[in-house]
Amino acid sequence: LTPAAVERLRADFPILRQTVYGKPLVYLDNAATTQKPQAVLDAIAALYTGYYSNIHRGVHHLSQLSTEAHEQARIKVQQFINAQSDREIVFVRGCTEGINLVAQTFGRERVGPGDEIVISAMEHHSNIVPWQMLCQEKGAILKVAPIDDRGEIILEAFEQLLGERTKLVAVVHLSNALGTINPVARLIELAHTRGIPVLVDGAQAVSHIAVDVQALDCDFYVFSGHKLYAPTGIGVLYGKAELLEAMSPWQGGGDMIRSVSFEKTIYSDLPYKFEAGTPDIAGAIALGVAVDYVQHIGLEAIAGYEQELLDYATEALSAIDGVKLIGTARDKASVLSFVLAGVHPHDIGTILDRKGIAVRAGHHCAQPVMQRFKVPATARASFAFYNTRAEVDALVAAIQQVQEMFS
Ligand code: PMP
Repeated sequence: LTPAAVERLRADFPILRQTVYGKPLVYLDNAATTQKPQAVLDAIAALYTGYYSNIHRGVHHLSQLSTEAHEQARIKVQQFINAQSDREIVFVRGCTEGINLVAQTFGRERVGPGDEIVISAMEHHSNIVPWQMLCQEKGAILKVAPIDDRGEIILEAFEQLLGERTKLVAVVHLSNALGTINPVARLIELAHTRGIPVLVDGAQAVSHIAVDVQALDCDFYVFSGHKLYAPTGIGVLYGKAELLEAMSPWQGGGDMIRSVSFEKTIYSDLPYKFEAGTPDIAGAIALGVAVDYVQHIGLEAIAGYEQELLDYATEALSAIDGVKLIGTARDKASVLSFVLAGVHPHDIGTILDRKGIAVRAGHHCAQPVMQRFKVPATARASFAFYNTRAEVDALVAAIQQVQEMFS
């Protein structure tokens, strides 16, 4: 992406035009959530003004249009992550719900007393707590693959954790706290040679890396729409068809059944078996449009540009006295987590906010990562393709000022 191309793309995001405390908004909190392009906003308005109706049940015109748009979005998502079939794409509320769905169905059915689930030391709370809850219920054991000082999973240690009792590996693709891109294909291969299925938390990855679930050969892949330029309230659980087929439904209700009597209910086919109740129709349609939008730019182009931006920011930030980067993995994307000697990350966040710069300060829902690096919190700048070098310069100048203020 050339600077001119980025400027054109920025113009697609109305929210980026505003000022905050009289300063141009510099939005560097994309790992928390991304902003929405006009095309996504327009798609939501077009639905509600033109053809909104409940889906899958109406014979009438509007219902057919809404149903078609909803199912078209599923196909877009299928193609986006290269799933074999749209039956493998389950719409959920978000990444968190997708993981809980797998824990409460697949996990509950397959994990028993003394069994083990392997995660990594860099997981988001949403890829820790559902497994802890399951382990508690079943008397199973949660094993944690350690990470090194760069914030990379120690492969040998990971491999040693895989054993006879391991029923599932659940691992993040791109860490929201460290920026580490995990070698998930390798991790999956190591697990699969022992017959262990793998869930990948793709919450951060899908907006920065081209994901091909068939090439990865992952068994489950989950992500949220809101980190991919779509609204909140919609997310995706991808599962291999044969696994989803074998799993019991999670929530019961309308839409997930073929027939109901008081004696017996026959469930719907995939993916509807896992989609009880009226879904987030607008969210799914908007996600489809966001996927189109991202694919139109191209993930290769996005990744290349963001990498340049990250390298540029890393170099400039590292040059400031007292800055320590948390997460220096060799394979990294879009996230710059750091601490500044003598300054609490929350103070950094607050001072930057006054300059119109939005960053995150805190534990980033990854408290074990903070414990691993012995910091209470970090400040985190996270990039999207609409960020610019000028914005990185503003960030760096502001951090420089914070450093001078406190030293
Ligand atoms: N995993 C990772 C790596 C994340 O960054 C996030 C969101 N911060 C989640 C899971 C959870 O996503 P959501 O809150 O949208 O369900």
